[in-house]
Amino acid sequence: MNELRNKSDILSMNLQELTRFVEELGFPKFRAKQLYGWMLKGIPLEQMNNLPACFVESLKSNALYALPAVEQKWVSSLDGTVKFLYRLHDGQFVESVVMQYEHGLSICISSQAGCRMGCRFCASTLHGKDRDLLPGELLGQILVAQREIGKRISSLVMMGIGEPLDNYDNVIRFLHLVTDKDGLNLGARHISLSTCGLVDKIYMLAKEQFQITLSISLHAYDDEKRSSIMPVNNKWNIDSLLRACASYFQTTGRRISFEYTLIDGVNDDEEGAKKLASLLHQYMKDMPLHVNLIPVNPVAERGFDRSSKERVERFKQTLIRHGINATVRRKLGADIDASCGQLRHKKREERVGT
Ligand code: SF4
Repeated sequence: MNELRNKSDILSMNLQELTRFVEELGFPKFRAKQLYGWMLKGIPLEQMNNLPACFVESLKSNALYALPAVEQKWVSSLDGTVKFLYRLHDGQFVESVVMQYEHGLSICISSQAGCRMGCRFCASTLHGKDRDLLPGELLGQILVAQREIGKRISSLVMMGIGEPLDNYDNVIRFLHLVTDKDGLNLGARHISLSTCGLVDKIYMLAKEQFQITLSISLHAYDDEKRSSIMPVNNKWNIDSLLRACASYFQTTGRRISFEYTLIDGVNDDEEGAKKLASLLHQYMKDMPLHVNLIPVNPVAERGFDRSSKERVERFKQTLIRHGINATVRRKLGADIDASCGQLRHKKREERVGT
């Protein structure tokens, strides 16, 4: 690790920065362009076959090329969803999922190895956070997935393991990299970032003026319930969160989407749906409202159950009757199912031998 600390993280660089780095190593500019071309294809250093051996050797000694390795990959025979378990350069594991939609491929990536937010229904947080992911490791999840699938990914969701806004600086740098015209050139409007509600960071993000979609994991209709399943609510309650959302919408003009995980007998009652509707109308006055309902993926360690179809439908219809556009998230890759964070959790347990 000490050796790695002294190396320059080239996957987190844009083309101008990479060019400067390559010139500092004593190689001509055009080598940086060649290298960058390979990096964008997710190709390992040894396979960059138009680079001279001395350049590759110099990179091995001076650069950290933190491309994730595919530890395991599952392909759904039902709908082509592909799930990746990636191994990072220091042995950490993270997950990404590529889903096929009519408009193209969409990837959901992880932002941290683990998570310290402690949401009670989530497997990603069972052992807390091991570390933040580097900008290049965020990018690398997309590059390797594209290489493996052989197709371009056209939209991105930051909703995998980790809280993106708890890794703020790296995520912001990544957003610049992934939208860079010299790089993957992904449209900001095709990017969605999901947060459990780090209010201070929502205000900061609004100032960055990215045209991305912000998605709020709300998951409850009052503070008592929300604090019982999401510890973050003890620091930033629903009032402060929805005020931040209203301000975000006013500053950026971008609509916010709300995520609501339905847990049987915890937050899925009809009265709750009415309260949720009135809460959203109260704070988000001028914004078209949309709630994405997600029946919880049971996590063995937590003992939460999925709401029945009837309860999900009743909750949804109540929201709609009260002026909220509500949809139930379509379940993709049901035959390769494992809720987010469970594969990493299993791998981690194997490694520590518990
Ligand atoms: S739901 Fe998101 S923020 Fe909450 S513990 Fe899981 S990964 Fe972290």
